[in-house]
Amino acid sequence: MSHAKADQSDPGPENRTLLRANPSSNDPPFTDHGNPGPLWYSFDLAPKRVQPGGWTHQVTQRELPSSKDIAGVNMRLTSGSFRELHWHTANEWAIMLTGRARVSVFQTDGRMFIDDLGAGDLWYFPAGLPHSIQGLDHDGCEFLLAFDQGDFSEDNTFLVSEFLAHTSPELVEKNTGWSRVAYDRLSREQLYIFEAALPRPLEDDKKFLGKYLETVNQYTFKQSSMPPAEVTPGGEVRIIDSRNFPISTGIAAAIVTIKPGALREMHWHPNKSEWQYWLRGKGRMTVVTTGGTARTIDLKANDVGYVPSMSGHCIENTGAEDLVFVELFAAPHYHDISLNQWIARMPDKMAAAHLKLDIETIRQAPQQRTPVISR
Ligand code: MN
Ligand code: MN
Repeated sequence: MSHAKADQSDPGPENRTLLRANPSSNDPPFTDHGNPGPLWYSFDLAPKRVQPGGWTHQVTQRELPSSKDIAGVNMRLTSGSFRELHWHTANEWAIMLTGRARVSVFQTDGRMFIDDLGAGDLWYFPAGLPHSIQGLDHDGCEFLLAFDQGDFSEDNTFLVSEFLAHTSPELVEKNTGWSRVAYDRLSREQLYIFEAALPRPLEDDKKFLGKYLETVNQYTFKQSSMPPAEVTPGGEVRIIDSRNFPISTGIAAAIVTIKPGALREMHWHPNKSEWQYWLRGKGRMTVVTTGGTARTIDLKANDVGYVPSMSGHCIENTGAEDLVFVELFAAPHYHDISLNQWIARMPDKMAAAHLKLDIETIRQAPQQRTPVISR
C-alpha cells in the first residue's frame, strides 16, 4: 500500500488553485481509463475582446477541439450598447443570463421581428438572417450564444459596416443614392460592439414597423412560457426544442437543475454530441466512451462541458447549492436513453444474464426514466 501512496505523491511544482478545483483529474477514480480527449474548457480561460459598450469571448473547436458540433460565445452589452447588425453561416441559439436586451431579426419576405428579453429567455436566429442585439435598462445584459458549427468564430461574421466600407463610393451611391459626403461619414472600421442611446419602448418600435412587423414566426422563447419541467425529488429538466420552439430547428436544449447530492442519471443521447454551459453551482461528470475509455471531471459555473456523441454519462451535484446547466445538441429534437429505464423494460432474464445479478437486486434500480435521481 505504501507503494500506491508513493505513486500518488507530487513532490514537484504544482498549481494549487487548479489542483483544488480539479480533484477528479488529480486523483481520478479507479474506474477512469484511457483518454477520451478534452471534455472541458472554461470561459474564464478565454480571452475577452473588450470594446466601449461591452465584451465578448468564445469557446469553440479551437479551444475545445473535440467539440465539432457546437461553438459558444459569452457576451456583455452595457445599457443601450449594440452588437452591430450582422449575419453568419451558423444558426444562433441564445439564453439571457442577466439583465434585459432588445433583439431584432429581418426575414427574406421584408418583415422584421422585434422583441425584448429578460434573464432565462431564449432566442434563435436562422443562419443568414441579419439581426441585432441591444442592452436595455440601466445595466444592459449578458448572454450565452451557441452556434451549430464547432469552428464558428464570432470574429468572422458578416457586418453591415464592412459591406458598405468595402464597396466603392460610386457603387454605394448608385445603390443607395447616398452622396460621397455621406459615404465618407460611414465607418471605415467594423463597429462590432458600440455604445448607443437606449431605444424607444418596444411598443413604439413595433408601431414604427407597422405592417412590416413580423408576428407569425416567433424567434424568442419566454421563460414564462417554458413547458412544465420534468420534476423529480432531485431536480428537474426542461426541454426546449423545435417541438415547443418551432423556429429552433438547428439546436435542441435541456435546462437541468440538480439539487445538492443528487445525480443526473446515467444516460446517453442517440443523435448528437452534448455541449454544456454551466450556469450555477458545481458538479462532477463521468463520461464513458468505447473501449472502456472513461474520464471524470469537475465543472463549475461559466465552464463548458462536452460529451462525445452517444457516450454514456452522468453528473453529480458536489456543491451546497443547486447546480444548473444547459445541455445543447445540434439537432431539431432532444432525445435521451435512460440506462435504468432500458434495464427495467427488458425481459428480466435478459437483464440478469448480462448483469450477473439476481432479479430482486436489479429491481432496486428505478423502474422508469428519472432524469435527476436523489437518494
Ligand atoms: Mn449573431
Ligand atoms: Mn446528457
